[in-house]
Amino acid sequence: MAASHKEITAAEVRAAVESAYEKVRGATGGKNADYIPYLASVDPSLFGISVCLLDGTVISAGDARCTFGIESVSKVPTAILAMREYGALGVLEKVGADATGLPFNSIMALLLEKDRPSTPLVNAGAIAACSLVEPVGDAEGKWATIVGNIAELTGAEPQIIPELYASESANDFNNRSIAWLLRSYGRIYDDPDMSLDLYTRQCSLGTTAEQLAVMGATIANDGYNPVTNRQVFDAELAPRITSLITTVGFYERTGDWLYKSGIPAKSGVGGGVLGVMPGMFGIAAFSPPLDEAGNSVKAQLAIREVMHELGLNIFAASRLCICECRPTEERS
Ligand code: GLN
Repeated sequence: MAASHKEITAAEVRAAVESAYEKVRGATGGKNADYIPYLASVDPSLFGISVCLLDGTVISAGDARCTFGIESVSKVPTAILAMREYGALGVLEKVGADATGLPFNSIMALLLEKDRPSTPLVNAGAIAACSLVEPVGDAEGKWATIVGNIAELTGAEPQIIPELYASESANDFNNRSIAWLLRSYGRIYDDPDMSLDLYTRQCSLGTTAEQLAVMGATIANDGYNPVTNRQVFDAELAPRITSLITTVGFYERTGDWLYKSGIPAKSGVGGGVLGVMPGMFGIAAFSPPLDEAGNSVKAQLAIREVMHELGLNIFAASRLCICECRPTEERS
């Protein structure tokens, strides 16, 4: 007999979010990203969790409305945008959909797979995705499309954090190498410097855990934003973007993350994590201190706690999976 999906109520989610917030708020460990100086200056004690259900209910705890740098989570909306413009197969052919198993800014990954930058969710593929955005050749037109797409997915118009943009632009030497390597392999589809600048700008956008939860819910809801009640992208693209998030959302730690959490999620060095539970909800958490792979320590714990509390796992037949060991009690 086919297993039916576990139903969850808003009250259960609220209890899980509040419990996760209390359990994780005192956790220590990790440190703010410092290779982008602005990020090192953000208050490390900020911490928020938000869940958006598919009826548009948003349930939050802590600093869920605090604005922070979206960073690599911005790779998700721009991958969706490239799919909207070129189709799922177009993105597969021009960028790829494979995990690299290497850090997000790896040049080695690009040297090894020069025929394709692998996935729009690592730096090389994300810069390539920015180069694809229409109208090709028009930086400001492309920027308006990128921002408009994020606004449709989150229901809020994102603004650049000027100090973050300045800080990133002044320290983008590695990414500049990636953009020009892409050029030498014929794997960038607009001016490399312009494409890199668009990528840097999108990473410097401010967002909140609540906005990312709405984006996650839109993906979990086959492209229909449950807060704005708008179909943002074709339903057929939803499993494609979720598959990209699943394979590379935590870079070289993606396998460990999935094994422990049971939910596809994407991190950013600003401290945000966006999770997608298809057919159920979007979830996001934010806390600046990161582990050595650049993933927020507390955001990971918070999302795992919510999943644990609700007894959910995307890989279980009914999605129900009771695990004895609480994430916050785990020995490393
Ligand atoms: N802007 C950052 C970079 O390119 C994003 C990295 C991240 O969030 N993992 O290095």
